[in-house]
Amino acid sequence: MRKFKTESKKLLDLMINSIYTNREIFLRELISNASDAIDKLYLKSLTDASANVDQANLAITLTADKDARTITVSDNGIGMTAEELEKNLGTIAHSGSEEFKAENAEAQGDAVDIIGRFGVGFYSAFMVAKEVTVVTRAFGSDECNRWTSDGVEGYTISAVPTDDPAYRATCGTDVIMALKDNTDDASYDEYTSEYTLKDLVKRYSNYVRYPVQMMVTKSRQKEKPADAGDDYKPEWESYEELETLNSMTPIWKKRAADVEQSEYDEFYKSTFHDWEVPARTFSLHAEGSLEYDALLFIPGKAPFDLYSRDYEKGLELYSSNVLIMEKCADLVPDYYNFVRGVVDSSDITLNISRETLQQNRQLQVMARRIEKKITSELEAMRDNDREAYEKFFDNFGRGIKYGIYSSYGMKKDELAGLLFFWSAKNEKFVTLQEYAEGMVEGQSQIYYAAGDDRDRLAKMPVVKAALAKGYDVLLCTADVDEFCFQAMRDFTATGLAKVYEDDAAREAAEKAQADGAEAETEDRALMLKNVSSGDLDLATDEEKTAAEKTAKANEGLFGAMKDTLDGAVAKVTVSAHLTGEGDAPSCVTAEGPVSLEMEQVLAAGPDGGENAPKATRVLEVNAAHPVFAKLQAAQEAGDAEKLALYTSLLYDQALLTEGLPVADPVAFAQNVCKLM
Ligand code: ADP
Ligand code: MG
Repeated sequence: MRKFKTESKKLLDLMINSIYTNREIFLRELISNASDAIDKLYLKSLTDASANVDQANLAITLTADKDARTITVSDNGIGMTAEELEKNLGTIAHSGSEEFKAENAEAQGDAVDIIGRFGVGFYSAFMVAKEVTVVTRAFGSDECNRWTSDGVEGYTISAVPTDDPAYRATCGTDVIMALKDNTDDASYDEYTSEYTLKDLVKRYSNYVRYPVQMMVTKSRQKEKPADAGDDYKPEWESYEELETLNSMTPIWKKRAADVEQSEYDEFYKSTFHDWEVPARTFSLHAEGSLEYDALLFIPGKAPFDLYSRDYEKGLELYSSNVLIMEKCADLVPDYYNFVRGVVDSSDITLNISRETLQQNRQLQVMARRIEKKITSELEAMRDNDREAYEKFFDNFGRGIKYGIYSSYGMKKDELAGLLFFWSAKNEKFVTLQEYAEGMVEGQSQIYYAAGDDRDRLAKMPVVKAALAKGYDVLLCTADVDEFCFQAMRDFTATGLAKVYEDDAAREAAEKAQADGAEAETEDRALMLKNVSSGDLDLATDEEKTAAEKTAKANEGLFGAMKDTLDGAVAKVTVSAHLTGEGDAPSCVTAEGPVSLEMEQVLAAGPDGGENAPKATRVLEVNAAHPVFAKLQAAQEAGDAEKLALYTSLLYDQALLTEGLPVADPVAFAQNVCKLM
């Protein structure tokens, strides 16, 4: 016997023992695997002429044996070789075993989630079975193999001899479950009941595109014998008939009004292997020169591999109900890679190859329309269901920001309205439009601070200074935020109160309004501004002049300080926005295109290291702070040592409040001690 890996064992135990309430879903999982296997065979037949698949025969068959207490799910799909049996059924969660942490899951009691995330659907069979046997024959092989396991310790794999009654004459798979013994609070016998099985198929697998068949017992009236007398009473007999249990009508062909949301949910879950219901379901029926139906879903949760290289975007593409591609990537842009769904068009030819698909104009037309539809659905969600949208953005917002960045801002008109950022002023997520609407008089830019911790950002001196002026600051904690903003440069807000060129124009407008005219509005492009980029427009003109004067008067001091820092900063100067005695004594800002936060992200990125672009740093000193007087005194007394000490401390301390590393922590600690 081969043993399950430890992590697999833990998961099995966790799963089998914690999801009692939903045991019945095992059938959906096995049928979905069977359907996948038939899909694979079918797709193979499109490209491999030797696979002559008789479409009419493709089916999934259920068999229940009340006496033996077994149920069997059979398919005539692609089957598995011995190696595939080992690989696919030998290791639970083989698809994501690295990320898999059974311990974590246990602690959070998040069992259901784990199953969905790691594609361990097959193992749900052990929720009802004490032993599972899989007999399978791979397409193109005449070997048949048997996998058996009690779902506890391990499994065995052996070849099935041709004279064994279980030997399969054609490719495909039989999954045979020996049901668990009944207990006081659970009867497993019910799964052999025709009624239960029919009900489960209808509920969970109704839209599986292959027939799910079962021999059912029916009764009929016997034919009246020719010699029957007047007192003949009709007689009944029972007979067996193979019945298709699922409707198979493609759900996307139906009008949304005729389908319950719960049906969509089940379709979504079984087709896209998700355990959570979709956050949003929407459909599209195009008529005219290019006809197609699309049924699209926004998942309730990001798949665990969404941001990994292995993640494949794409929609299922059908031509007249027949699957031609499982993940047609050309139908959705990268930034909507999370959208799942089905597109069916009778206008797309069946035997289309991947290369021709890419240039297919029809496909491009569909893709454009689908993209528009997704955008408008998201906008509707943003406007009508804030809570759901917040969750959505938490799941998928990063991809949207990345979409703006990677298109060099070309997609900003389409996507900027969907962005959400944390407002320091309102302490909640806001859109850029909402930010613009909340701007105070005289404010002409959108301010943001970037870093990895929201609380720390809120405490930054420059953020506080902006807030003190009534300006909101967006606190951006995702590494892509600043790149996104730089690609956008500005955001065009709509319907803002008009700003008049001069007093005369304003007065004229006010007069017109007094006479009943509506207040004028305008669209305005607002620059996106990092609060730690030195040239903030926060200070008033007086403050700026005062700062310039102080800077001039202290040229010698600042020059000496700059020399002390030995190339770490490009400039030391008076701060125009740290002006109160109670404000911080100093801060570090950046001149030029690379901000301090970007510098960090770039250094950590794939092209990081010595050659990554660096920010041009400026040390700003608060001239109103008592420390400044001390600096001046040291400079006047010619005490170079003291000045150097104070300067390094001020610089390091400013770095720390920005959340940046100090170059030499040991020296910093020693300097603090010297002061003590
Ligand atoms: P998932 O379906 O999400 O991949 P499962 O645990 O349900 O995860 O199945 C694991 C794997 O076992 C499948 O990916 C497939 O390769 C294989 N498998 C399961 N059932 C069948 C079947 N009936 N025919 C062929 N392969 C199957
Ligand atoms: Mg599965």
